[in-house]
Amino acid sequence: MTVTVRFAPSPTGRIHIGNARTALFNWLFAMKNKGRFIQRFDDTDLARSKQEFSDAILYDLHWLGIFQDATEYQSRRFEVYDAAVEKLKQAGLLYACYETPEELDLRRKVRRTRGLPPVYGREALTLTSQQIAEYQSDGRRPHWRFLLPNFAGDPQEPERTEVHWNDLARGEETVDLASLSDPVLVREDGTYLYTLPSVVDDIDMGISHVIRGDDHVTNTGVQIALFKALGAEPPVFGHHNLLTTTSGEGLSKRTGALSIESLRESGIEPMAVASLAVLVGTSENVTAVPTMNELAERFDPAATSKSAAKFDPDELLVLNRTLLHHMPFSEAHDRLMVLGISGEQAEPFWLAVRGNLDRLADAASWWRVLREGPQEQPEFSDDDRDFLRQAFDLLPEDPWTATIWKDWTAKVREATGRKGKALFMPLRLALTGLSSGPELADLLPLLGREGTMARRP
Ligand code: GLU
Repeated sequence: MTVTVRFAPSPTGRIHIGNARTALFNWLFAMKNKGRFIQRFDDTDLARSKQEFSDAILYDLHWLGIFQDATEYQSRRFEVYDAAVEKLKQAGLLYACYETPEELDLRRKVRRTRGLPPVYGREALTLTSQQIAEYQSDGRRPHWRFLLPNFAGDPQEPERTEVHWNDLARGEETVDLASLSDPVLVREDGTYLYTLPSVVDDIDMGISHVIRGDDHVTNTGVQIALFKALGAEPPVFGHHNLLTTTSGEGLSKRTGALSIESLRESGIEPMAVASLAVLVGTSENVTAVPTMNELAERFDPAATSKSAAKFDPDELLVLNRTLLHHMPFSEAHDRLMVLGISGEQAEPFWLAVRGNLDRLADAASWWRVLREGPQEQPEFSDDDRDFLRQAFDLLPEDPWTATIWKDWTAKVREATGRKGKALFMPLRLALTGLSSGPELADLLPLLGREGTMARRP
């Protein structure tokens, strides 16, 4: 059996780092098992789903390094869901209900006062044909509920009915179907809720493993019953914990907070996002993992903890720095070109500055410093200016060797008696205009003798 997974967001907004966690869990699982990854858009809610969001989600996934084997849109598959509805109706497993939300609410309250669980009491099953005719003449249209298999003879007498599965992330899981209301699969207006189309697609598309957030654990109990009602073997399920902000709030597509788009625009590397999204809330340490292959090796769904994982966006910056510090020139090359950094000096420049970058785009300002000189002229005391003039006059002639920085500063030390910070800081300020930055030993050869002398105060 080919491992086949799917990532199934509804395209109602941009995906955030929590959605990326689900996508990555599926992607890495497929990678590890040489499986297929299906991108499925759960866009049965035609009013809220937008093609522009589907396109943007694909863009975000590709940026992260996730590439789908197939793309499916639920909005193009209504006929298949209609056929499943017919099948369930024929089997007596889908029944019409006419209650309004207010009536249901009242019933729940009554059940609570009687000490009964606040689930749907299946009153619609006992409607007479006259009552149904009255509802219909009042203009009421039915919504449709799936009859959960939680009773022996009489549906009005549900009994504890456990559904078990061995969860990829959570281990043994149990849901009692008697604790749940029969789920509504089709609304009054004929539109589908998520539950049925998802199962129909998972069957049709040969999904072998459903990996999703743990907000779906209860749904899984229901959906396993639906798989069976439709004559299919349920897939393997895995439910990972959700990510929350440091203050414990959930993430939402609607707010755009921590969207993949906003992280990309703020200069965070895709593998920094992927490393955090996958490793946080697991027993693994969160470290910057430079490639998807290496991340696949670190990935183990069973290592996820059961409680929500708080994560700190500041951690992304730390991971970003680490990735940049080790990024080979070959990987940075094209993006540096876009920043106008090219030519013979591009590689030594990259190796000199990468250790000082928060974001790759910051390389552009170091390139400017090297090309144009300090962007702000530093102020020097008379003493420092005298020292610098003396130092620059000691600058060795061409040709320079690899030890030029060491040679020059040794001469300056000897001639001026300055050492340590008193020696290096004025030189750094004169050469770059900044009090910190890349090793001057690396920058000096890039400036060359002429470029260096041009910075003599
Ligand atoms: N559209 C559902 C969601 O985003 C998909 C859940 C699933 O993977 O089955 O929550």
